[in-house]
Amino acid sequence: MSGRFVIWAPSMHSEPAAKCGYCHGNKGENKDQLFALDSWAHRYMDKMDAIEIENCTMGSFVEHMDMDTYDRLCNMGFRRSGKFLYKVDPLRNCCRLYTIRTTPREVAMTKELKKCVSRFANRITGGDCCSAALPSSDFVGRIVDAELNSKAFHTRFEPALYSDEKYQLFVKYQENVHQDYKNSPKSFKRFLCDTPFGPEEVLGTQESWEQLNNWQSMKPGEKLKHVGPAHECYYHEDKLIAIAVSDILPSGISSVYFIWDPDYSKWSLGKLSALRDLAIIQKTNLQYYYLGYYIQDCPKMNYKANYGAEILDVCHGKYIPLKSIENMISRGKLFVLGEKKAKVSKELYLADTDTRKLLSFPTDNAVKYKNIAEEIYGAEGCAFESANESALELKELYGIPYEEEDLDTIYHLKEQNTHFPSGIPNVVPGLLPLWELLDIMQSGKITDLEGKLLLFEIETEGIRLLMNFYNEPPTVKKRICDVIRLFGFETCMKAVILYSEQM
Ligand SMILES: [Zn+2]
Repeated sequence: MSGRFVIWAPSMHSEPAAKCGYCHGNKGENKDQLFALDSWAHRYMDKMDAIEIENCTMGSFVEHMDMDTYDRLCNMGFRRSGKFLYKVDPLRNCCRLYTIRTTPREVAMTKELKKCVSRFANRITGGDCCSAALPSSDFVGRIVDAELNSKAFHTRFEPALYSDEKYQLFVKYQENVHQDYKNSPKSFKRFLCDTPFGPEEVLGTQESWEQLNNWQSMKPGEKLKHVGPAHECYYHEDKLIAIAVSDILPSGISSVYFIWDPDYSKWSLGKLSALRDLAIIQKTNLQYYYLGYYIQDCPKMNYKANYGAEILDVCHGKYIPLKSIENMISRGKLFVLGEKKAKVSKELYLADTDTRKLLSFPTDNAVKYKNIAEEIYGAEGCAFESANESALELKELYGIPYEEEDLDTIYHLKEQNTHFPSGIPNVVPGLLPLWELLDIMQSGKITDLEGKLLLFEIETEGIRLLMNFYNEPPTVKKRICDVIRLFGFETCMKAVILYSEQM
């Protein structure tokens, strides 16, 4: 199965926005910020008591995936929690979660960040290092110099495996910082140790860990050998004081979670860990630092902008400097960048998303951009009508059970309690649009999956190659289409889809 993308058939999960960990369904006076677009806010603001605003996530449990695949999926807006791979439906969700990344070059060292580094250097060296001689903007040089000259502080990268010492720190952190008292070794493992990656990436080699643990001394151009999940344990006077849980991707480091000892709150370890990760990225010749999701109207998350950043336009699979779209995404709004003069008549083309390079939008001013999210997904936008036409053809011509979707079903009535009975909705920004799926059927490209895609039915424990798409039962066809729409056609080709006929 190595190289295979082994996943459970994707599904949509929704729960009332009150359970959203960021806004708790409450944006105070700014209720309109629960809506992705002004036109939806306009349409629904006076019906707020009747509709259920939800927290909407799509994804799959993943049994196996390699780091290259995960790297690409991260740049399509996915994140993982343990073995669960997910992305948010930015249209229906109460909050707009944007993938955010930065590079060491982009970090603007504020006074606060400079202070954080110099205090750290003083604490761990007792003031006995030459880092003070370096310019205060050179945070990489200062951190490296201080750590190489410290006897009291060191860190160690190691496999993302359980230990009692790590678990104790996790509990202390969760209870004191998040008032979360429902922890167990099992929940710790599921959240921060379980991964969908193979043993070669989880365990690495002695040589690869050794190189990573001596990151301060790597030479320019030297290639980092380790890719995979890692726990970086921070020790002060041999006491474990923090753990950075990360995925080391071919293109950079993706921060998963950070745990710190509340007794060390004065160290500003959260800020420091981001700067340390950026220093590691620079010294190990990686490119990007992925900080997870950015939510503009969430005070808990918008600190991420301080590290200088690019935001993913999930419909183009391209990044754009946060500064240049800040006004488009303020008030919790969805953005899709488009040329000012271009007219949009359907959802954007997405087919090659999974083979795209990690591009940024051209930042020259020759073409002026605007936010085209309303034109596509707005209450008067083009997406829903076009998706309904395609849904009809997909069903009639190819027997794939797509149903038309009413524009009014974006939000459910509270009394209906329907919660996406038909799975992944027809219109979701960043997913392959139905018109394009229809193209894949009509051009015959769908047959490229035959002889490549594997299907595993849980009830019969039968694994088989897809031999003829058209002969598959409607429910299997729909599941294959869900995988194509979520993860892309190329990724679907190397997939093993696990499914249950009873689910
Ligand atoms: Zn929310």
